[in-house]
Amino acid sequence: MSVEKTNLMGLTFEQMEAFCLSIGEKKFRAQQLMKWIHHQQEDDFSQMTDLSKSLREKLAEIAEVRLPRVITENISRDGTRKWALEVEGGGAVEMVFIPDGRRGTLCVSSQVGCAVDCSFCSTGKQGFQRDLTSAEIVGQIWLAGKSFGPRKNLGQHPVTNVVMMGMGEPLLNYDNVVNAMRVMLDNYGYGISKRRITLSTSGVVPMMDKLHEDIDVSLAVSLHAPNDALRNELVPLNRKYPLAELLAACDRYSESRTHKHNTITMEYVMLRDVNDQLEHAKQLEKLLRGRPVKVNLIPFNPFPHSGYETSLRKDVLAFHQYLNDRGVITTVRTTRGDDIDAACGQLVGTVKDRTRRNERWQKSIFLRTEQQGVAL
Ligand code: SAH
Ligand code: SF4
Repeated sequence: MSVEKTNLMGLTFEQMEAFCLSIGEKKFRAQQLMKWIHHQQEDDFSQMTDLSKSLREKLAEIAEVRLPRVITENISRDGTRKWALEVEGGGAVEMVFIPDGRRGTLCVSSQVGCAVDCSFCSTGKQGFQRDLTSAEIVGQIWLAGKSFGPRKNLGQHPVTNVVMMGMGEPLLNYDNVVNAMRVMLDNYGYGISKRRITLSTSGVVPMMDKLHEDIDVSLAVSLHAPNDALRNELVPLNRKYPLAELLAACDRYSESRTHKHNTITMEYVMLRDVNDQLEHAKQLEKLLRGRPVKVNLIPFNPFPHSGYETSLRKDVLAFHQYLNDRGVITTVRTTRGDDIDAACGQLVGTVKDRTRRNERWQKSIFLRTEQQGVAL
């Protein structure tokens, strides 16, 4: 009878220690295993040369380092890389790597599909299939690192920043996402600093409170509307957790962090004539005044039958200026990787509306990274 092997990919340091003890090994083997897997990018136990031959054989029998299968990998002229990954049980997710000087940001998926069903999101239209495991989430960083080949003298990992802004609502896959972020933070894992890991949520209020009790990472909130009537339409979760509750949860989150790192990014997708007019900017300014937040305007990334259009450039600029003039720090997300359709969170396999692609403003692919935002 075959027993399912333990996948070591998504284990935190403590879980790896527990695993070592459970197979009759010393705890310190956990360090060696973590380093082989995450620093050396090794998935073959037989190559882990500082472990005894008998341990390597034992590991091969009972454990594995299993990763999602890469279906496609595309590299853009500007260095942006995009992968489609097949996950077990069918279905696929995407991840995108965005290089920017010494910084390399990976946009990571947390679920196959998404149950929140925001009206402007192609992932939402796909429905929810399943949560990704911790191994499938951490595995995205592993695969991105591996695509750059062996690291010379274990210098800087290509992934310096992570944004949980790919497919899925990370706070609805709470345990696996937090587990995976622990591996990202751990020095035996990827050693990424807490300032450089950002979780984006559509506003699952109770989980936002739990998050700052359990782990310290940066937060982005998908706001998208300055009043409840409009937000109910765009982000159906608002009916359960309306704006007042969401903003109170944001305040609690900011208070839980040290002053230097307490800014929350408010994501605001710009939908033509829906939420992009001056009246909306005015309401937004009132809502956010005095709060430690910055606004990131995301030009809508169109897909067939979405029913929405990308905002006019002049409207985005006016909205941006209105908020900045009144002291609400606001940036507009920039375009990267548009020759490979590097739209993180875009439904895998979706045929995009190519007729729009000639217009520079509209063909832009907007990556979900707060760091990509620039002041126009
Ligand atoms: N589920 C989480 C994280 C993934 S989506 C969340 O909603 O926050 C990451 C960001 O991309 C969110 O702000 C989301 O609203 C935005 N987004 C989704 N579809 C988009 C589209 N078609 N164009 C532009 N931004 C979009
Ligand atoms: Fe889910 Fe985020 Fe898309 Fe909304 S925007 S449907 S929460 S992935």
